Amino acid sequence: MASRRPCCLLCGKSEENSVTGPLATKDGITAHQNCLLYASGIYCKDSPEYDDLFGFSVEDVKQEGKRGKKLRCHSCKHRGATAGCEVKRCTRSYHYPCAVHSNADFIENQSNGLFQLFCEQHRQKANGSAQNDGATNQGEGSKARQDVI
Ligand SMILES: [Zn+2]
Ligand SMILES: [Zn+2]
Ligand SMILES: [Zn+2]
Repeated sequence: MASRRPCCLLCGKSEENSVTGPLATKDGITAHQNCLLYASGIYCKDSPEYDDLFGFSVEDVKQEGKRGKKLRCHSCKHRGATAGCEVKRCTRSYHYPCAVHSNADFIENQSNGLFQLFCEQHRQKANGSAQNDGATNQGEGSKARQDVI
């Protein structure tokens, strides 16, 4: 059993690449660093106690894995999608690698340790302003998308 390659509990993949970041295993729980950081239900506790799992608690990650079982990925349609769009009323969830391939936007705020994902519908232009939060383009302004490729 020990020879089996461990898979990420969150995205289910076993490879490590520039998208997922490295894998870590603790107490039988394996996950990618980026999958953990962008999972909506857990946050990095950054305590030496949890050093082995990028600062995440094994129990938290287990819970997040359970939560993900009910969430279907907007991209690949498989379950286990723990990385949800930050826009509250948006129901899109992804596996972290799927979100990357779906053109989602990732905002990393080092100062408060927040890692936020915005789906392709809600991605904001990189202008450093958070004032667009909650803005809706529905109804009016529907001609804004004229420059279709
Ligand atoms: Zn993963
Ligand atoms: Zn997926
Ligand atoms: Zn969204």
